[in-house]
Amino acid sequence: MLNRSKPKLFGRAVGVFLGFLTLSANAAGRPNIVFIFSDDHAVSAVSAYGSSLVETPSIDRIAAGGVRFDRAYVGNAICGPSRATLLTGLHSHANGFYSNEWSGPFNGEQQTLSSLLQGAGYQTAVIGKWHLYSDPVGFDHWDVIDNVFEQGTYYNPAFRSPAGVEETTGYVADLVTEKSIAWLEHAKKEGRPFFLLYNHKTPHRDWMPGPQELRNWDEDALVEEPESLFRDLSGLTAARRDARMRIADYITDNDVKLKMGNKLTPEQAALWEQAFAEGNRQFEEASMSEEEELRWKFQRYVKTYIASVQSMDRQIGRLLDYLETQNLMENTIVLYSSDQGFFLGENGWFDKRWMDEVSSQVPFLMEWRGHIQPGTTSDALVQNIDFAPTLLDAAGVTPKEPMHGVSLLPLFKPDPPPWDRDLYYHFYENPGFHGVARHYGVRTQRYKLLYYYQNDEWELFDLVTDPADQVNLYGKPGYTEITQDLKKRLQKLQVQYQVPETDPDVAWYHEPLVRMVEKLMLWL
Ligand code: CA
Repeated sequence: MLNRSKPKLFGRAVGVFLGFLTLSANAAGRPNIVFIFSDDHAVSAVSAYGSSLVETPSIDRIAAGGVRFDRAYVGNAICGPSRATLLTGLHSHANGFYSNEWSGPFNGEQQTLSSLLQGAGYQTAVIGKWHLYSDPVGFDHWDVIDNVFEQGTYYNPAFRSPAGVEETTGYVADLVTEKSIAWLEHAKKEGRPFFLLYNHKTPHRDWMPGPQELRNWDEDALVEEPESLFRDLSGLTAARRDARMRIADYITDNDVKLKMGNKLTPEQAALWEQAFAEGNRQFEEASMSEEEELRWKFQRYVKTYIASVQSMDRQIGRLLDYLETQNLMENTIVLYSSDQGFFLGENGWFDKRWMDEVSSQVPFLMEWRGHIQPGTTSDALVQNIDFAPTLLDAAGVTPKEPMHGVSLLPLFKPDPPPWDRDLYYHFYENPGFHGVARHYGVRTQRYKLLYYYQNDEWELFDLVTDPADQVNLYGKPGYTEITQDLKKRLQKLQVQYQVPETDPDVAWYHEPLVRMVEKLMLWL
């Protein structure tokens, strides 16, 4: 017995030793990086975060294999600016990309994650959504979905690359994945580490599910309504009353599939008809009250949103399977996040832009085998300014210019440092679609203070007792000291990040034109 057990013990010890060597080799070699980045994906629609709306088994794999950040936020909850922050590690005022609608092309010549990694010998690629109105810089390979607003289409999208514009046939999540796997296939042979920004368009408006979800469409299935779907906004700040993002008033027939989706082939159009035509007929023949109509539109909206998430999640699974079968997972950091969250009926709204939890919080998952314990959760306050510093730290690259964010890797050391930190938020896109007032604010461990500086209005939320930002405590008895402290913290962040006192001049931007286009969208 003793003799037989000796080799077994020895074998186990050798295994541990070899495991240590493998870990050391991985730690010594620079890791590959695959950043899976989606568009408008709310935390409430990720099952790793306990979603009651949808299952996302592929995204959940990253949470199970690594860390789930439970308090990850963006500094400006709008598409292009969030992407500019990912690339620069800087808030909008410092990277110059404030707004989707009036910032102009992103200046890719400034210091970016991609250029720094490329300069350090990484192979670099961005495939899928770009939305920065410029050609990507710092990427050996880029192939981005293209059209005039850089949104692309869900079906048969055009892609733009140095070779020109390519028309394709298929569903966007499938195509972005096929192109990404093709590039990985090339990159893995090079022998140098790689960085892939695998950027989904999904689940951005107008929420077009892929073919499989159209085939499986169940008109009768219902999703749970949020408590605040019918909320009366009349007693709130003017900023909230005046926003044009109520599902009841501003969601379009195209959004809720009362009209045929864009750019479909006859076969795709037939699937579309099969999914929606009968439900549309019943809706048009019914005589609904306003309340019933909002309920119907909410269901169509959220169900097509989550079906789009499922279409994307399956493709993410395909890419993860590829990494796994090619034995790349052992030395690849895989991340999942989104450019911001989204209102899924809360306050009766759709869209994003606000510093509210549902729109400024993002899913953020990171798997790095041998470095992050599987199944870890973290409640550290982190922000998208931290993405670039974290990945550069992992790659052993020091930025030439300081970034606003910090590396998150110390959080995974045996003795993590204290993480006492406040987050800064600043939304600029007004005038702009949906009419959300400009605002800045601070998010602390417990509170959130927002200032709508065009209206001179404040809001204060206690996120422990009110995690959905519903009860404005600003000016209420008992909150004077807390408010004073939060104003000091806010000012401190503005000094730390050198936020200019005045916003960039957008005088040429024409509010009546924006309103006209919004009305046109409802009419079309
Ligand atoms: Ca977005």
